[in-house]
Amino acid sequence: MTSVLVLGSANADLVVEVARRPGGGETVLGGDTVVMPGGKGANTAVAAARVGASVDLLGAVGSDQYGELLRSSLASSGVRTAFVRTSARPTGIAYITVTPDGENSIVVAPGANGDVAPSDVDGVSPDGVSVLVCSLEVPVPTVEHGVAWAARHGVRPVLNLSPVAPLSPSTLALLDPLIVNEHEAAQLAPTFEALLDLGPRSAVVTLGARGAAVVTRDGVVEVPAPAVTPVDTTGAGDAFAGALAARLAAGDQLVEAARYAARVAATSVTRAGAQPSYPAAADVLP
Ligand code: ATP
Repeated sequence: MTSVLVLGSANADLVVEVARRPGGGETVLGGDTVVMPGGKGANTAVAAARVGASVDLLGAVGSDQYGELLRSSLASSGVRTAFVRTSARPTGIAYITVTPDGENSIVVAPGANGDVAPSDVDGVSPDGVSVLVCSLEVPVPTVEHGVAWAARHGVRPVLNLSPVAPLSPSTLALLDPLIVNEHEAAQLAPTFEALLDLGPRSAVVTLGARGAAVVTRDGVVEVPAPAVTPVDTTGAGDAFAGALAARLAAGDQLVEAARYAARVAATSVTRAGAQPSYPAAADVLP
């Protein structure tokens, strides 16, 4: 079976409900802390594994309780962690406060994610890997090295440009596809077609409830998302990227893979949380 390699972050999400956000110098009391596995890389890897891909995460955690938690939650979702290095820095943590209006405020302490290095990429054998999927919560030079590594070894490089960071033209030129959401797309180019002027071989723009647009030299093809009543959209973009990579690794064409990814991501928004909301193949909405 060909496999998906995910290069990206793993974070412990520490979530606390507060009646209102504290101002500068102020203390407010919140509810009990809920710890959830997160980080764009780990989310993407779990989404791909749930729908049946063979998946490795390439990243780093600390030698602390959160690192252990993340390793075991990845393993229980079927993601291999042999390339998740234990760093001298603490595991990445997202401190998330949620107010009754459902609004999140988030501080991310990248910790070990900031330590994922080009040499970590060089330690991976490309044998059997067909798709590399990257996101940007690990250092940009490592991501650029990963994309070049993939291209050199005949592995298809996919990159979810989230959060937006400047990439070199030589990296952009290798992406197939570049994945962005609507807001990120608007920051990068005036039209979907103009995303290709940045250099990628293809682009996919996720459009929330409207699904996604697949952009190639042949034009723009919109794929719908099933109509759902959203419960929690956290991690929907990562679900899309993981499912897309899984289907590309299985041999789908890009439009076909995006059609499936939109269904997987729409299914995930009907359930609470990020990773816990990702469906197995049998549960993906039609
Ligand atoms: P997030 O930041 O919440 O992870 P995003 O902004 O990166 O998400 P979106 O474009 O909002 O990405 O959503 C990604 C995918 O999730 C969409 O392409 C779609 O398939 C699905 N999706 C998101 N919101 C909805 C919704 N309200 N109804 C159906 N599908 C949705």
